[in-house]
Amino acid sequence: MNRELVILGSTGSIGVQALEIVEANPNLFTVVALSAAGSNPDLLIEQAKKFKVKVVGVSKNRELIRQALPGVEVIDGPHAATEVAAISCDVVLNGITGSIGLAPTLAALEADNRVALANKESLVAGGDLVLARAKKDQLLPVDSEHSAIWQALNGEDKSEISRLILTASGGPFRDRTDLSGVSVQEALAHPTWVMGPVVTINSATLVNKGLEIIEAHYLFGIPYSQIEAIIHPQSVVHSMVEFVDGSTIAQGSPPNMKGPISLALNYPHRVPAATKAIDWTQSHSWTFAPIDTQRFPAIALAREVGALGGGLPAVFNAANEVAVQAFVGGTLKFTEIVQTVSAVVDSLRGSVSGALRDLADVSAIEEDARRTARELLMKVGR
Ligand code: MG
Repeated sequence: MNRELVILGSTGSIGVQALEIVEANPNLFTVVALSAAGSNPDLLIEQAKKFKVKVVGVSKNRELIRQALPGVEVIDGPHAATEVAAISCDVVLNGITGSIGLAPTLAALEADNRVALANKESLVAGGDLVLARAKKDQLLPVDSEHSAIWQALNGEDKSEISRLILTASGGPFRDRTDLSGVSVQEALAHPTWVMGPVVTINSATLVNKGLEIIEAHYLFGIPYSQIEAIIHPQSVVHSMVEFVDGSTIAQGSPPNMKGPISLALNYPHRVPAATKAIDWTQSHSWTFAPIDTQRFPAIALAREVGALGGGLPAVFNAANEVAVQAFVGGTLKFTEIVQTVSAVVDSLRGSVSGALRDLADVSAIEEDARRTARELLMKVGR
């Protein structure tokens, strides 16, 4: 059976790897539509031609793209990805980075498309809204940790889960005691994973693991008290589930997103040779250690905002997006990223605790968080 795919964020890290999977498996997949911000128009045009797509969604450089792709329907404007997500297909892969991915996720679910979700912010910013629309097996995880948990839970009874254990590589500063002088270049050099810049910075602060704890809560319906994160520098064991009988099931493969992407695209089937397997002719040492929560306060903060719920996870994420931008732009120190997020959460915790009603609600909360973050950054004044 050949599956029709829509790929959102096609020029980003997840989108590019998904298209490599499609190219290697033309018998399994056809791409009907792509969307991208449009900041890399040459790559988007090349992808659209190569995969003979019918529709392309962009928010930038639309004339250039339109001229280069005669016969292709080009949807433009700020809601292009949301419109493309609603095109009827078998699977929409949401590889957008940031909470701008939420509206497309909701649109895809409403159009009855299956969603392969790499956009964790959809669940962090609007988890309740997403869950209210997702039917059984309609929302499939692409994040490697969540794919691992999903695989470990196959056929298991949810009531027999004792804990979900997410693994974290620990990022480049796992063993560095003083994080105050970290440079942008150092934060962008991830030891085991090759990813987009925002996720890479979030991995260095461990904000990414905090977002993933919230993502796991929504995906698997497990309380925060039963979700842990630990350090596993080799990034081979992607996460684990501990059961009530003391047994733990883990999923392992060398660090490569093609495994989780291909499983979500081809579920319930696996894609042959999607990624290399572990080479058992070699010796391996896998190590696991608790996270130093003093040096990485993002974990406790994420748990706290997750448990409080309402709009606070959206605040956490939006404030972080602003702080990461300021760090990359050279106006904020590395350790000030999470300090800023924490200060924004403190200042808004009283006003956003109610249940989320709709997308407009999320947007208003995020706008508040971004404004509060910018005001704090002005005070830092670098
Ligand atoms: Mg991950």
